[in-house]
Amino acid sequence: MNQTATIDAVRQICEAVLRRRTFLVTSHARPDGDSIGSQLAMAFALDALGKQVRVVNADAAPDHYQDFPGMDRIEIASAVDATAADAVIVMECSDPSRTGVAGLEGHPFIVNIDHHAGNRMYGALNWHDESAAACGEMVFDLIRALGVPLSLEIATHIYLAVLTDTGSFHHSNITPRTFDICRQTVEAGVNPAAMARRVFDSNSFAKLKLIGTLLDRMELLDRGRLAVLDIDDAMLAACGCTHNDTEGIINLPLTAREIQAVAFFKVTSNGDVRVSMRSKYDVDVRSVANRYGGGGHKNAAGFTVTEPLEQARPRILQQLTQAIEEGLRTWHVARST
Ligand code: AMP
Ligand code: MN
Repeated sequence: MNQTATIDAVRQICEAVLRRRTFLVTSHARPDGDSIGSQLAMAFALDALGKQVRVVNADAAPDHYQDFPGMDRIEIASAVDATAADAVIVMECSDPSRTGVAGLEGHPFIVNIDHHAGNRMYGALNWHDESAAACGEMVFDLIRALGVPLSLEIATHIYLAVLTDTGSFHHSNITPRTFDICRQTVEAGVNPAAMARRVFDSNSFAKLKLIGTLLDRMELLDRGRLAVLDIDDAMLAACGCTHNDTEGIINLPLTAREIQAVAFFKVTSNGDVRVSMRSKYDVDVRSVANRYGGGGHKNAAGFTVTEPLEQARPRILQQLTQAIEEGLRTWHVARST
């Protein structure tokens, strides 16, 4: 998105927000740090403007987010009556169905704020900026444009969004703007060391056991460049874990120098298989997710498998091998020029 379009979108959203009184804020199902941070930063900003705000999500956030400010105000619901809200703010969703919350789609005033490729522009107002490393970067700009001071709560949630969606500053979508925003949040009182410990070093012993089991069973393909993890409910139960405990585990194989991409196949109790993917540098896992109706970013993407796994799995791994090949080629070309 060019700068003029951004300024325009932010101005329109500011005007719309200032003119309205009641808001419903939501984001995607199975929330992550960016969805939680973006929603709660926005909710605290709307509070500061004297607005009424509800935050509604389809699923609870993983445990290590539970003691962040404002978590207790998130309502968990699979359907909602949104008619009382003057505006619905949807963060981080390329399509409203990603919320997993029924009852929002017909709302006459949806504000769509997102940084994922392929956004369907479903809002009355749409602000889509693929160059943002986190949706939280966009929310930061919006909050500043609204003239709301950067309280510690708001700064904490913005930093949380950026810290998690950049894969703790590992992904290739980080810009000077990312650090400028972080600088301002730290000036507002955020403690980066404490944030990193709270988010990344809050594992239970059960989760450590799960990590051990998963890494022990990890498959290595493509001469060690592609790692594959699998999980089902039985493995979770054996370690005393739930699906929420799988968060972040996908990043561990990438700590091996050779591994360029990771696929994580998660078989859920209803038989659905969710595939999460991560990669380094120019290896584009979103291109694979797109072929299966999913999405995400170059270095972090996902989708749900809609065909028999034994049919899809070898093809997905073949496509990832191809993406690694192409990504490494681009990376070497870029480094040699
Ligand atoms: P995950 O592997 O679930 O942590 O997701 C990684 C990234 O891909 C996040 O930015 C997600 O929002 C995005 N993503 C995951 N699944 C989907 C999907 N089915 N459709 C669109 N984006 C997705
Ligand atoms: Mn995000």
